[in-house]
Amino acid sequence: MPHSAVIGLGSNLGNRQFYLQMANCLIGWEVGAIVRRSTVIETPAWGFESDPFLNQVIVVETELSPMELLDTLQSIERRLGRTQKSTVVDGKPVYHARTIDLDILDYDRMKLQNDRLTLPHPHIAEREFVMVPLRELGIDIGY
Ligand code: AMP
Repeated sequence: MPHSAVIGLGSNLGNRQFYLQMANCLIGWEVGAIVRRSTVIETPAWGFESDPFLNQVIVVETELSPMELLDTLQSIERRLGRTQKSTVVDGKPVYHARTIDLDILDYDRMKLQNDRLTLPHPHIAEREFVMVPLRELGIDIGY
């Protein structure tokens, strides 16, 4: 039985539409079948001063484990030119513009916490750029 993963995509650097399309293509190829896709929306940068994002949420059926999924998404981020990771300075996250950001919002409603992965993704409820596409798809992750 494949697992169901909800993935949030964001881009605010360069040809944003191209990066979203490339990410969709690589996810479909390397992660699994994309069974649902939200509309692409434009939203202001959240948490830092930067250009607006294009955001989308997709649902993927995958045979990958959560950690394999994270590894694959991070590999796709690197190949699509993402250079800087978010960091924490004085206890506060510091964000950077990015060609592509791929977050695992949910994986089979699993709760998991380790040094690399928190499921479901924290802070979803306060981020409209995730909640709007989730509502469009009728997905309630249960926050
Ligand atoms: P960012 O730079 O904002 O994309 O954050 C990436 C970091 O968040 C990486 O170090 C991941 O290991 C970590 N992370 C924790 N939980 C998640 C998640 N559910 N989806 C994606 N990255 C996650």
